[in-house]
Amino acid sequence: MSTNSRDHLDGKEFDLIYRHALNMGDIGICKWNIDKDEMYISEKITGYEFNNIKNMFQYLNAIVYHKDRELAIQDLEDYLNGHTIFYPSTFRVKSKTGEIKWVLIRGKIFQDENIKDKILHVLMLNVTGSKLHEGHDTMTNLVNHKFFLRKLKKAIATAKAQNKQGALIYIDIDNFVNINNNYGFQFGNLVIKEFSQSLSYILDDSCELAKFPGDKFMIMVYDFYDTGEIEEVCNKIYEYFKKPLEIMGNQIYINLSIGVTFFPKDSSDEIELLKFCDFAVSQSKLSGKNVYTIFNKADSYFRKTLIESEILNAIDNNEFFLLYQPKVDISSNRITSLEALIRWQNDKLGFISPGEFIHIAEGKGYIVQIGNWVLEEAIKTASLWKKKGYEFETISVNISPIQLKRKDFIPTLLSLCKKYNIPHSLLEIEITERTLMGTCEENVGIINDLIESGFRIAIDDFGTGFSNLISLIEFPISTLKIDKSIIDNIESEKNKLVFKSIVTLGKYLKFKIIAEGVETKEQLDILTKLGCNGIQGYYFYKPLPKEEIEKLLEKGV
Ligand code: C2E
Ligand code: CA
Ligand code: CA
Repeated sequence: MSTNSRDHLDGKEFDLIYRHALNMGDIGICKWNIDKDEMYISEKITGYEFNNIKNMFQYLNAIVYHKDRELAIQDLEDYLNGHTIFYPSTFRVKSKTGEIKWVLIRGKIFQDENIKDKILHVLMLNVTGSKLHEGHDTMTNLVNHKFFLRKLKKAIATAKAQNKQGALIYIDIDNFVNINNNYGFQFGNLVIKEFSQSLSYILDDSCELAKFPGDKFMIMVYDFYDTGEIEEVCNKIYEYFKKPLEIMGNQIYINLSIGVTFFPKDSSDEIELLKFCDFAVSQSKLSGKNVYTIFNKADSYFRKTLIESEILNAIDNNEFFLLYQPKVDISSNRITSLEALIRWQNDKLGFISPGEFIHIAEGKGYIVQIGNWVLEEAIKTASLWKKKGYEFETISVNISPIQLKRKDFIPTLLSLCKKYNIPHSLLEIEITERTLMGTCEENVGIINDLIESGFRIAIDDFGTGFSNLISLIEFPISTLKIDKSIIDNIESEKNKLVFKSIVTLGKYLKFKIIAEGVETKEQLDILTKLGCNGIQGYYFYKPLPKEEIEKLLEKGV
């Protein structure tokens, strides 16, 4: 086949391009005559002149940045010992001008035809800031998490061999999503860069700072004597970021959640250590953010993993059951509605409260199956009670935002109501204020569809999420449940005022108001004065088993 286009360069052209790249410091080559212990080096990446270098080991010792030296030597040894079929490596060099550059190495041993010596040919590429590379994060020029894992593995082995203690400090920027949302991704990237530079500035040079995916960073402290040293690092970080970062004329405040683990004390497995770090960070977030948590195995980690494994079979083993808590209308003193509340009794764990397992089930995605079980059980019970002729307006079920987002959520509801032959208006869906606040267009559509299908909607835990009262006008909801935290302090003037204005709004917009967690006569009296007549709380009834509720409904209370 004849063609005018050429698919390869002739020798001269190749030579020119190669020399150009060599001069730019993009590539370098070296040859190590293993039999004669002679080295030929041609590179301008590091900017050094090399004399008296006889072999590849000496060369690596001369150029590799001290933090990566151990791994670089290991890569070479692995190849020479036949563990890899060619010589791949990656590390940082510190150039003569002090710049940190990332280098990629590809090499192979050939037998020279003339002199019969074994020669290692090595190609070096300067890949700083390029995607070609597996070792570093191009935005921050830091070690990335893949490369970090290799370092960690090595560090664990060294710590064990030398009887040392190392630490991992995992950092998560709390409000980063907001920064991205408010200022855009490019600005977000600038924040990450600035943040990483500030961290490098604070940290001692003996630590290793790595960039993890998203807005996460990891610090490895190779060696310490006292936990206090690590706490000091965490405090130093918090102290530093009390000041805002200055980015393009904007003052950006950074909140951090930090999780700390120790190796080999907590684990000698690098993947497990990262899991522990993740868990410690989530504990920090739970305890209100901007704090650090030192991982403690004995704490909740094992309970959480046990919950995760036990919850899988809990439905099949009939470990879940429902209790029902009455909501009472105090003007008539009657039970108007019943809230289904899930309970879990497990052989190994004993009783686990929904406050503990629901968010774990959400995290693992099991909440959909569990939520469907709750729905069916509650609907079945509602149908049975109606058949028995009991009078009540609704049965309410708590719905997790994860269930709500599922395409099959409404079809499931419809088919369950059909199966047990109950009118849609008998079912009230409780959605928390937080879920409503995080509502995107898609969820607004789902809530409207639910209302159009005749289901009732209650907004749960109202008053905890700072949502705008006015946003309630958007949906014709049926019930607003005022959170226990407001009721607990209902004697305060501020809370009375808040409550009163909600009652006024409720009358105007025609939704019912339920005060949650009413425990005392004093609270009841204040609430009655403020015009509230829907009460749910221990003062009247605790959540009760089905049979107890039947006795109450039988009496017609
Ligand atoms: P919630 O929906 O706000 O339910 C009210 C919680 O307050 C219940 O806790 C109830 O037992 C408790 N409570 C009611 N009256 C009083 C009172 O006077 N004093 C005190 N101290 N507490 C009172 P429970 O049953 O432990 O449920 C906790 C949370 O777990 C619920 O909060 C709800 O968010 C969630 N949950 C419960 N069942 C389910 C379910 O089937 N699905 C989903 N997704 N979440 C559920
Ligand atoms: Ca509820
Ligand atoms: Ca509630």
